[in-house]
Amino acid sequence: MSKQNLHIVHLYPKEMNIYGDTGNTLILRRRAEWRDIDVRVSLVGIGDEVPHDADIILGGGGQDAGQDKVQADLQEKADALHKLAFDGTVMLMICGMYQLFGRAFKTGSGNVIKGISILPLETTAGLERFIGNTVYQTEFGETVAYENHSGVTSLDDKSLALGRVVQGAGNNGLDKTEGCRIKNVFGTYSHGPLLSKNPVLADLLLEIALKRKYGESAMLALLDDSLEQEAYKFAKQRPR
Ligand code: GLN
Repeated sequence: MSKQNLHIVHLYPKEMNIYGDTGNTLILRRRAEWRDIDVRVSLVGIGDEVPHDADIILGGGGQDAGQDKVQADLQEKADALHKLAFDGTVMLMICGMYQLFGRAFKTGSGNVIKGISILPLETTAGLERFIGNTVYQTEFGETVAYENHSGVTSLDDKSLALGRVVQGAGNNGLDKTEGCRIKNVFGTYSHGPLLSKNPVLADLLLEIALKRKYGESAMLALLDDSLEQEAYKFAKQRPR
């Protein structure tokens, strides 16, 4: 039997990568390879095509200036990304890219950075910056991470939230929602990198991608996650 393979696409690695978000790509790659799955990683920047055979697409956070830099190019990629999202491609968008997967981000200086409306949400810069460690409850268990954003995000429908805030601000500091999920597109404010201490989520993303490509019987072998669990516990104990 030929080996299984996954194609991971990392969007805007130069402009949109803060607080270790690139780690998510490395972690998915390594966790797949540990299961003897071949992995190809494509770094897709400004002017590059979005590969139509992507299995997982990742995007990170960035300063407002980084978001501004990629906005025109992201509009060029919007159709391809919509099609892939509609087809069930797994996507994980963190903070700055999460905001741009919504309709728009209005910055503190009144600049409107247009998004691509894959996620039904909108963001406006608030007066306060939300900084610190976060904990929230999700369908896939409790998740710990780190947030740093001025953006205040409102979901059109709160039932689409990825999680419920236990510690931290989440989408807006008000309604206890954190992130958003539509189909297999996951958006969140969680940096960290998120997947380093939340292996359950890392494997959920890999498993959805694998089953989509190879059928429902595709399974991920179990790994020893004791180090990741230690990292999770340590991060959770840290004060905000
Ligand atoms: N510039 C955005 C904000 O501050 C995104 C920041 C980030 O990606 N960490 O809301």
